[in-house]
Amino acid sequence: MQGPSARIVFFAILVRVSLHNVCVSLFPIEVCVLGSGSSGNSYVMAGASGVILVDAGFSARETITRAEFAGVSLSTVGAILITHGHSDHSRGAAVLARRFHIPIWATAATLTRIPGLNGAEELRTLSIHKANDVAGFSVRAMTSPHDAPGAVILKVDMRVGVATDLGYVSASVRRFLTGLEGLLLEFNHDITMLRNGPYPPWLQERIQSRQGHLSNVQAATLLCAPDFVPPRRVLWLCHLSEKNNDPKLALRTAMAALGDNKPIVVVARQDVPGYRVVIG
Ligand SMILES: [Zn+2]
Ligand SMILES: [Zn+2]
Repeated sequence: MQGPSARIVFFAILVRVSLHNVCVSLFPIEVCVLGSGSSGNSYVMAGASGVILVDAGFSARETITRAEFAGVSLSTVGAILITHGHSDHSRGAAVLARRFHIPIWATAATLTRIPGLNGAEELRTLSIHKANDVAGFSVRAMTSPHDAPGAVILKVDMRVGVATDLGYVSASVRRFLTGLEGLLLEFNHDITMLRNGPYPPWLQERIQSRQGHLSNVQAATLLCAPDFVPPRRVLWLCHLSEKNNDPKLALRTAMAALGDNKPIVVVARQDVPGYRVVIG
């Protein structure tokens, strides 16, 4: 099978099989972006031993709707993993945790900043010093310079990286994210659109700072860095600003940075969930 449409059909077949829990053992991680952008971020990852929700930046009701749309039952989720306390990553966590009896995993600092907690939730501390067993996934966390105490980027089963709200890319970030199968990477803004856009100067400064968000160019510079191997299978462009970015521009910038052996590149959308993609 060749060509983009055949590839989509191929993934669709895999997804359909995996709905009945047949192929997860053959294909270690299935990823679905429920939505990503400045208004909310959430991803589902399913593996042989469990299902996790990474970030819960939509309301609980919206998360349930999006998961149903994507064919995911939240009753199968074994952990809610939160990268940091900003509401576009944590808004729905407390209600989902109580309703579905799912533990919330986050760093100690982030656990104190998740909105709506009332003591009824099961909270588990994510370590940045060792691998964490999160609902059967091996999760490594690395501190992010973002302006939220305890913020982290993640690596799941040494195959899929989650790196949004990053501020800037250091050599240690490149080492952490290099050579994965899949990578959800922040392409937050185009610098010209940001400077000419509606945000006040102080907010523009915050976004551009080393505690803010990655621009298209910063993310693309990571992809073509000499000491970095881009993801082999799938690259998701995530956390695009609706006001300060253009999906076509972000995609063009990413494609120009990638070499000849390009992974599948997907622009994650804010408004609707994406395809479920199996990475193995
Ligand atoms: Zn943030
Ligand atoms: Zn964010």
